[in-house]
Amino acid sequence: MADSYTIKMPQLSDTMTEGVVVTWEKNIGDKISRGDIVATVETDKAIMDVEVFREGYLSGPQAAIDSTVAVGDAIAFLVAIADDVQGADAEAPEDAQNAGSEGKPEIEVAADIGVPEGISHTIKMPQLSDTMTEGLVVSWEKNIGDKIERGDVVATVETDKAVMDVEVFREGYLSGPVVAIDSTIAVGDAMAYLVDNAGQVVEGEHTGSGAAAPAAAAVSSTPATPMKKTSAPMPSVSNDVTPAPRPENKQATPFARKLAASLHVNLNTLHGSGPDGVITADDVRAAQPVERPTEIGAQVPAHVMPEIQVPGHGRDMTAMEKAVSHSMTASLTMPTFRVAINAKPGAIIKAAKANGVSVTVAIAKACAVAMAKHPSINWAYQPVDKIVERENIDIGMAVSADGGGLVVPVLRHCESRSLEELNDSWGDLVDRARKRRLAPEEYANPTFMVSNMGMMGVSYFDAIPTPGTAAILAISAAGPEGMPLTITADHRVVNGAEVGMYLNTLKGAIENPEEWMGPTGPAIPEGDWDYDVVVIGGGPGGEDCARDLAGHGIKVAMINDAPFPGGECLWRGCIPSKAWRAAADRIRDRAHDSHLGVNGTNKAKLDWDALEATRRNVLETRGEMALKTDKGVKIDVIQGYALFESDHRVFVDTTANSDNPHARTPLGDASDGKHISFGCAVIATGAPPFVPPIPGAAEGVENGSVLTSDTVWGLEGVPKKLAVVGGGAIGVEMAQIFQDFGTKVTLFEAQDRILAEVEPEIAKHLTAILNDDPNLTIMTSTGLASIKGEPGAVKLSYKDSDGKSHTQTVDYVIMATGKRPLLEPLQLDKAGVAVENGIIKADARCRTSVPHIFAVGDVIGGLMLAHTAGQQGRVAAMTILGEDMQYDQDMDSGVIFSRPEAAFVGLSVEQAKAKGIDAVEVKMPMSIDAKAMITNETQGMIKIVADKASQRVIGVHYLADHADTLIGEGVMMVSGKMTLEQVANAIHPHPTQTEMFGEMARRLLSRLRRSKK
Ligand SMILES: Cc1cc2nc3c(=O)[nH]c(=O)nc-3n(C[C@H](O)[C@H](O)[C@H](O)COP(=O)(O)OP(=O)(O)OC[C@H]3O[C@@H](n4cnc5c(N)ncnc54)[C@H](O)[C@@H]3O)c2cc1C
Repeated sequence: MADSYTIKMPQLSDTMTEGVVVTWEKNIGDKISRGDIVATVETDKAIMDVEVFREGYLSGPQAAIDSTVAVGDAIAFLVAIADDVQGADAEAPEDAQNAGSEGKPEIEVAADIGVPEGISHTIKMPQLSDTMTEGLVVSWEKNIGDKIERGDVVATVETDKAVMDVEVFREGYLSGPVVAIDSTIAVGDAMAYLVDNAGQVVEGEHTGSGAAAPAAAAVSSTPATPMKKTSAPMPSVSNDVTPAPRPENKQATPFARKLAASLHVNLNTLHGSGPDGVITADDVRAAQPVERPTEIGAQVPAHVMPEIQVPGHGRDMTAMEKAVSHSMTASLTMPTFRVAINAKPGAIIKAAKANGVSVTVAIAKACAVAMAKHPSINWAYQPVDKIVERENIDIGMAVSADGGGLVVPVLRHCESRSLEELNDSWGDLVDRARKRRLAPEEYANPTFMVSNMGMMGVSYFDAIPTPGTAAILAISAAGPEGMPLTITADHRVVNGAEVGMYLNTLKGAIENPEEWMGPTGPAIPEGDWDYDVVVIGGGPGGEDCARDLAGHGIKVAMINDAPFPGGECLWRGCIPSKAWRAAADRIRDRAHDSHLGVNGTNKAKLDWDALEATRRNVLETRGEMALKTDKGVKIDVIQGYALFESDHRVFVDTTANSDNPHARTPLGDASDGKHISFGCAVIATGAPPFVPPIPGAAEGVENGSVLTSDTVWGLEGVPKKLAVVGGGAIGVEMAQIFQDFGTKVTLFEAQDRILAEVEPEIAKHLTAILNDDPNLTIMTSTGLASIKGEPGAVKLSYKDSDGKSHTQTVDYVIMATGKRPLLEPLQLDKAGVAVENGIIKADARCRTSVPHIFAVGDVIGGLMLAHTAGQQGRVAAMTILGEDMQYDQDMDSGVIFSRPEAAFVGLSVEQAKAKGIDAVEVKMPMSIDAKAMITNETQGMIKIVADKASQRVIGVHYLADHADTLIGEGVMMVSGKMTLEQVANAIHPHPTQTEMFGEMARRLLSRLRRSKK
């Protein structure tokens, strides 16, 4: 690029290191004058203009809107002459006519008499569905001479599927000649014109493609400019093409959307190969869309059949009749077969009623639930010799339109949306389908179809699948054998056995809807049980569950192998570690006092015995308080170790006591225990620390040189040198606490980052901050080879990230390499409870493979946190009581009690995008906050993550002092599904750090508003 000037991301504040491109205020190819604002960017403080003080033409490559660019990196270029202008990115169209007019409308100049002078825009018959080739003008919503604003609906047209609005995205005056009502014109032909001023308006109308129709010749008003070459040949896409609708839960580049519209590709079915899964033009091209006839009006039936002479005088088919006829004829190319099964509909009808949803929607969801096990039913044959494998389950279900005919609205994403969401969408779709007012994306490209004639009393029928699907399900009325379910399937995609297995799974889903739909009544089976519910384990999971059940009048026993409840959290986890953290905080804070002019306090000295006395006192007091409360709410607290004897009976070994962690497993001696029968059981037995098979580690645990989170509490003083193995929450907290106490600490982590559950940028910043602590070294990508020695002299051999071998000698090793449930002694096999990858398998309602046995907390894996266990305990209790409640990890939260604290609630952008959510984030450094400046707690940042479509907050991430308090507001935003606007409008008190939330929400809203322009 000769003589080009780089427009760089400017540093617009002293703390700014990167910026987000919010808008481009000029288009590629625009002439730029000195002082022009070419873009706006969001800094760490505000949205600001990017001004350019040169002249030239704006040229690519250009940073995409919403992309984050480091200060000093290029966001675009200026070139001296228009001919040197390059496209925004490699996806710009190659052909000069389109390329040069990126973002600028082509102006069509009509060559005919009667066409107004000075037309600024030709209103053409839009292609409103992928099969539409012509449309019938139903009404003009504006009159000739009317002033038209952007977004005005000027007319309605009938396509082959529905009556739809014609919107105009320009301003001007509506001018004739307009196409007469009831006339049919081809897609792309002129319907009317827009002119710049009222004086240019022409009256009159014509009847479509006949003689009066103006022959429009497209002439680009923008000079042709060469664009960057790309490797693949580009299809030409006119700028007048209305981009395809944004795909649901995904992103697509603007050009990909245009290309998709032009090539009739459904973006919902594509996987994006661009950054963060964005769908690019290449993905659209790779989708191998079906070729369409290029000649407008050449509506060719998909498969020409032999002509059959039918006597009589045939009337013309309506557009809808024609569409059905062509698609049914095309389906004759599919080699189909039929498989049928009977299912009893009673349970799903009852469950649908209990959940307030339609039976049709419940059956659609059941179809999707069954497809999770048999995905091929949802695939499709693609000519020639290809199979389209897809994950989105979009089910088309026929609805009778008012005035006759069938319309098939598509219920999208049945695989991921809740029954309630699907029910809401379906109600709306059916209303509009009846009136034939569906938008194309609402009836195009189903991946599976259902036809239900049960309500008509039809005893048996089968249905015809259409190309693009592999199968259609026909539902007939229930008889003595049940309701016949018949699938007609394409043998190129699925075989008989696959359809048979699918139908069996579907039958199961229809007959046992509570498995996927939730309870339709209490889960406690009838019987003469000792207890309605037995809860095994008295940690946060078991205790919260037992209290909820007792509060609802359920007869409940809580069996815990320790004298007091509280579990790991109280005795060996959250609470004792936070007592140590509190002491470490005081030591650390004293070092900050002098900047406020408070001197003589920074020589804090730790009195270990006093700290330990406080710690023990807190634990004991809380343990006694908990036991008193449990008994007070009428829980039968039984001390002992429980193991299953059957799916309705446990044996309780009353000699067991987990106060001695080494004696955790029971003796199983029938003389020292009791047998208890139960209706339901809840397993809340936690997960002890896991010691990996590193040579010498087990021996170290035995001789006390290797400590775990069970045994570290026995330390008699602060060690001088410590190695912490494992960079999870426990390891990081322990490492920094001891560094604050004055110990020299090395943390070894095998992975290339610490804190896997924490948002990546937050974890990266925290690593750097921890490494700045004088006594702490974080070593990632490190392999520990062996541990040898006695307490006071333990030698570790390890390989660093470069593969070099080293040794280090420390006083103790803290092994913080995760936790694993201890399942064998529970004798789960006697109850039939399934185990998967070392944890008890449980669904979102905490139900195990045995419907009346539940499992909660650390024993089911996932986030091993106390509040997670507590929430799951309440979910199990509610499910047992017959209420519909689920645990949703996407709403869960956590705090790493480091300094500054790392905390999270909900999803990161990365996690959201992996779930197909078009997410966007805004962040603010703590360094710009007044309170943080006063207290010299300026490290870190806060981020809000929002779903672009709904503008709801779906995640908040922190690296900040006091994040354990600040997280509360984030939790309410995420669990309350608050919108950015609600957060922005909430009145936060001043001066508090909570003001940052409002500020960030307002800033993100502003960015979203501007980038929509
Ligand atoms: C050092 C450390 C710090 C932590 N800090 C935090 C924190 O700050 N925040 C946080 O949220 N989480 C923290 N955790 C994690 C938290 O402690 C656990 O996630 C939580 O305690 C899990 O609760 P639970 O009910 O599943 O199991 P547990 O709390 O482990 O309770 C299970 C109970 O069941 C008993 N039991 C086991 N088997 C049987 C049986 N067969 N019969 C009878 N009783 C049995 C156990 O002895 C135990 O008392 C920390 C953990 C550690 C180790």
